[in-house]
Amino acid sequence: MDQSQKGMQRRRFIKTAALGTAALGLGAAWPGSARAGEIVRPPLPYAQDALAPYISARTVSFHYGKHHLGYVKKTNAAIKGTPWAGKSLEQIILGAYGKDDYLFNNAAQVWNHNFYWQSLKPGGGGEPTGKLAAMMKAGFGSVDQAKQALVKAAATRFGSGWGWLALKDGKLVAVSSSNALNPMVDGMKPVITIDVWEHAYYLDYQNRRGDYIKGIMGHLINWDFAAKNLAS
Ligand code: MN
Repeated sequence: MDQSQKGMQRRRFIKTAALGTAALGLGAAWPGSARAGEIVRPPLPYAQDALAPYISARTVSFHYGKHHLGYVKKTNAAIKGTPWAGKSLEQIILGAYGKDDYLFNNAAQVWNHNFYWQSLKPGGGGEPTGKLAAMMKAGFGSVDQAKQALVKAAATRFGSGWGWLALKDGKLVAVSSSNALNPMVDGMKPVITIDVWEHAYYLDYQNRRGDYIKGIMGHLINWDFAAKNLAS
């Protein structure tokens, strides 16, 4: 990137860092808080085969057991003996953004995967209700249009990345991010996510990302988790 882009990124970082994790509503109960100087990978909230047939036990085994764990190990190796050790995952992500790409990428991927596993549940899908449904209508015109916006964000992300619903200035928006990026670096609060890196679906669907997303939306997406993330 050129100098003006670097300057823009720096200014955005300062703005985001000034907001802090409290302003983003990322409290102590948020997944991925550091313990004893190390980042801890939360347990999978269900059995490895619980998402089948939409996401197979084999995919979860590699995705949680290899990819997610790998990001945790790399983050812990990178922060060991540095001032980052003992910081929360959110502090590391917001602090390393634009300054230490290797640490940012690994730490953000830990956070994104912590959030992803909670964004799914066996017997998910179905219809959002209550405040979440009302905010979907307010933000997109209807619940169905909100769902379609999330599907589109996830489906059309070029290459590796993530589809999200997030809160921006108190309003629900659909965004996608590339690689390890997370909407929190732009001052948004993530509400729910779909991982669209190929490792999330290739064993089960090969190149058919759309079928993977359809399986999640119909049978796995955890709207209860999304509803909890609306609370500040
Ligand atoms: Mn992944």
